[in-house]
Amino acid sequence: MPKYVYDFTEGNKDLKDLLGGKGANLAEMTKIGLPVPPGFTITTEACRHYLGHGGIPDGLEGEIVEHLAALEARMGKRLGQADDPLLVSVRSGAKFSMPGMMETVLNIGLNDDSVLGLAKQSGNDRFAWDSYRRLIQMFGKTVLGIDGELFEDAMDDLKGERDDTDLDAADLQRLVETFKGIVRERTGRDFPADPREQMDLAVRAVFDSWNAPRAILYRRQERIPADLGTAVNVVAMVFGNMGPDSGTGVAFTRDPGSGRQGVYGDYLRNAQGEDVVAGIRNTVPLQELETINPEAYRELLDIMATLERHYRDLCDIEFTIERGKLWMLQTRVGKRTAAAAFCIATQLVDEGLIDMDEAVTRVTGDQLAQLMFPRFAATAGNRRLTTGMNASPGAAAGRAVFSSERAVELAGQGEAVILVRRETNPDDLAGMIAAHGVLTSRGGKTSHAAVVARGMGKTCVCGAEELEVDPHARRFTAPGGIVVNEGDVISIDGGTGAVYLGEVPVTASPVAEYFEGEPAEDELVQAVDRIMTHADSARRLAVRANADTPEDAARARRYGAQGVGLCRTEHMFLGERRRLVEDLILATTPEERQAALDALEPLQTGDFTGIFTAMRGLPVTIRLIDPPLHEFLPDLTDLAVKVALAEERAGERADDRDRRLLDAVKRLHEQNPMLGLRGVRLGLTIPGLFAMQVRAIATAARRVEDARAEIMIPLVGAVQELEIVREEAEGILAEAGVEAAIGTMIEVPRAALTAGQIAEAAEFFSFGTNDLTQMTWGFSRDDVESAFFGKYLDLGVFGVSPFESVDREGVGRLMRIAVEEGRRTRPDLKLGICGEHGGDPESVHFCHEIGLDYVSCSPFRIPVARLEAGRAALTCAQSDTR
Ligand code: PEP
Ligand code: MG
Repeated sequence: MPKYVYDFTEGNKDLKDLLGGKGANLAEMTKIGLPVPPGFTITTEACRHYLGHGGIPDGLEGEIVEHLAALEARMGKRLGQADDPLLVSVRSGAKFSMPGMMETVLNIGLNDDSVLGLAKQSGNDRFAWDSYRRLIQMFGKTVLGIDGELFEDAMDDLKGERDDTDLDAADLQRLVETFKGIVRERTGRDFPADPREQMDLAVRAVFDSWNAPRAILYRRQERIPADLGTAVNVVAMVFGNMGPDSGTGVAFTRDPGSGRQGVYGDYLRNAQGEDVVAGIRNTVPLQELETINPEAYRELLDIMATLERHYRDLCDIEFTIERGKLWMLQTRVGKRTAAAAFCIATQLVDEGLIDMDEAVTRVTGDQLAQLMFPRFAATAGNRRLTTGMNASPGAAAGRAVFSSERAVELAGQGEAVILVRRETNPDDLAGMIAAHGVLTSRGGKTSHAAVVARGMGKTCVCGAEELEVDPHARRFTAPGGIVVNEGDVISIDGGTGAVYLGEVPVTASPVAEYFEGEPAEDELVQAVDRIMTHADSARRLAVRANADTPEDAARARRYGAQGVGLCRTEHMFLGERRRLVEDLILATTPEERQAALDALEPLQTGDFTGIFTAMRGLPVTIRLIDPPLHEFLPDLTDLAVKVALAEERAGERADDRDRRLLDAVKRLHEQNPMLGLRGVRLGLTIPGLFAMQVRAIATAARRVEDARAEIMIPLVGAVQELEIVREEAEGILAEAGVEAAIGTMIEVPRAALTAGQIAEAAEFFSFGTNDLTQMTWGFSRDDVESAFFGKYLDLGVFGVSPFESVDREGVGRLMRIAVEEGRRTRPDLKLGICGEHGGDPESVHFCHEIGLDYVSCSPFRIPVARLEAGRAALTCAQSDTR
C-alpha cells in the first residue's frame, strides 16, 4: 500500500510530485535545521485518489492518526485540548505554485472550550477570541461554502468606525457568537466543535479546491497539468497576532524585479498568516524589522543567505514571529520578472553558485520574448497621476475598468483595458488575464496582484495609495481631484510605477535593440548577451527564418538566423501583380499563358535576388507557389454584383474581362479549398508555372555571389508528384548551370507515412506543421480556433492549441516516422520545420529530441528559438520557476 503521509522530517525538496512544492520545501528546511513548526504532509497521491474515487483511500485515516499522535507527543499537547490546545493549520500545496488559488484554514482545534484554554495559556483573551473568530470565518467560507461577505459585513457592523485592532476581547467574543449564528443559519447545523472533524473537513476542502473554477483557470493559463492534485500540509500553528512583538512577513532573497541583492520584503505587525499576501492592510518594508526586532531580523537575514546557498537560486519565504521567536512557514524558488531571471542567472554564475550551462536552463524563451516588448517612450506629453509600486514590468495603456467582469467583456470586444482595483483577490483572475495591465491602490509588491501579474508577465503597478478607487461608482480619484471614469484611457509603467492619464506612446526595448546590433551596455543586456552566446555554443539545432522579403531576411540575419527556412512566394503575386496572375488564369491558349508567365518571371527574379543578397552565403529555401489560385482572383460575390450592376446600367454586356473573370472564379470555386487544387497539384496542372519560378530562382542565384538556393515543393503526398516536378526543375537548373537542393514539405499525413519513398526524390524535408496539424486532426486551421477551441480547452481535450505547440502524440508521431524512414532511405537527408511551431519553445525541444537539423520561425522569434535550442541541448527538463 502506498504511503500517504510524510512527516516534515521524512521528505525533501526533490519530492515535489508527491509532497507538493510547499511540503517538499518545508521538509527540506526541516532537514537543514531551520526553525520550521512541526507537521506532516498528506500526499498528492491521496488527493488524486480522493478526486478520482470521491473518497479517501484505504489506509489514509490510520496514517493521519499516527502522524497526528506523533505531532501531539512532540508538542506535548493534544489537538484542541481544552486547557492548552494544539492548533494546526491545514494548507494546500501543489507541485507548481498556484498563489491563492486553493484553500488554507488556520487555527483548527478551537472551540468553546479550547478558546478558554488558549486565552489562559497565552494570557491574552483578545488573541484567543480573535483566533477563534478567524477560524469560524475561514472555515465557514472555505469548508462550508458560506459567502465570505456575510462574515465581513457582520464584522464591519460591529466595528463601525473602528479598526480591526480596536476590537477588544468582548467584541470578538460577541463576533464569534454572530459568526456561529451565520453558520447555523446557512448550513442548518452548528459549527463543528470536534477538532478532528474540523481537521478532516478542512483536508477534504483543500482536496476539493484543486477543482475550484479559479484554480482550473489558473492552471490553464500557466499550462499546469490538470491531473496533478494538491498535497495538504498539517502544521502546528505559530501566531503572528499575539501582540506587538509578533508579526508575519514575506521576503525574497533578492529583488524579484531586478535581481539585485538586498533586503526585499514586507512585514506586518501583529497579524496572522495570509494578511500580507491578501494585501488587506498596508505593510512596512522589511528593513523596519531591524528596529522592531533586531535579533529576529538578523536571524532572518542569515536564514535567507543559507537558503540561497542551499537552493542556488532566488528563494521567497513566508515567516512568522511569535513573541519574538522566528518561524519559517514556507520557502520556494521564487517567481521573478523576466529581466531578473537573466540577471540572477549570470549573477549566480559570477558568485560561483552555478555554471553557464545551468544559467541557460534557468531562463526561458518566453521570458526573453517578454524582454523584447517595447516600453514607454517620452512621457512628457502625458499627465502623471501618481506613482505606485513597480510590481511587474512592461508598459501598458488601455481603458480603465473596475471589475473583472467588465475587463473580460471589453477585452472580448478587442479593447485594451487596465484593470483597476483597490486590491485583487483570486476571483479577479479572469479579469487579470483579459487586461493589458493591472493597477491597485493597496498592497505591496508581494500582494496577490503583484505576484500573479509577475507570474503572467503582465504589467502591474500596485499600492498606488494616492488613488481613491471606488469600484461601485466605477471611477478613481487622483491627487488634485482628477477623476478617471470607466472607459477613460490610462497608461501604467510597470518599470517605474508611474500612472499616466491618456495613452503614452511606446518605444523599443533595449534587448530588442541589442538584437538589432546595438552594443550590450546595461546589466540586463549584458546578461542576455552572455546567455545567448552560451546557448548558441551549446545548441545542435540551427535556426532559420520564415521571411518573404529582403527586409525580413535582413532583420532575421541580424537576430541570428542561419538562413531562410521558408520563403513563401505567393505574397509576391499580390498587389499590382495580381493582374498578371489573372492573365495567367484567363489564358486560353499556350501563347497567352506563356506571355503571362514571361511577364511574371523578371519580377520574381528581382524578388529572389533581394533575398539572396540579404542572406548571402546562407541557405535560402524557396517554396514554390502553394495556395489555391482563386485566392488571387476577386471575391465571387463582389464580382457577380459588379457584373450584374454593369449589365443593368448599360443595358448591355458588362466589361469582357470582368465576365471572363467571373467565369474563372466560378470554375475555380472549391468546397474545401485547403484540400483542393493547391501546392504541388498546381504545379502539375498549370503548365509552366513552377518552371517560371525555378527559372527565376536560377537567374537570381547566378546574379548573387554566394547565393545558396534550395527549392521546396509544397503539399506533396506521393513520391510521384515530387519526381515529376523534380525532373523539370533539374533540367532548368542544369541549363542555367546552377546547383540547388530540391526538397519537399511534409505537411500531408501521407507524405509522413511514405517518407521512405519520398526521400528518394528529396534532398531535404521541412515539416509544414500548420498543414500537418490541420490534416492530422481534420481541423480547418482558419476556422476552429475561434469556433470551438475555447470549449476544447475547457474540456481538457488538449491543454494548449495544437496549432501553437506540436501535438507530440499525434502530429509528433507522424514527424518521428518521417524522420526515421526518410533518414533510412537517405542518411544525409536534411530535416527542418517551418510551421508556426518552429518558434514555440515546447516544439523547439521536441524538434531537438527527434533529431531535426533546424527550426525556422518568424524573425522576431529567432532569439527565442536560439535560446530554446540551447536549453533543449543542455537539458529538456523544464526549470522549476514557473
Ligand atoms: C505549413 O503548412 O506549416 C506551412 C509552413 O505552410 P503554410 O502555412 O504556408 O501553409
Ligand atoms: Mg502549408
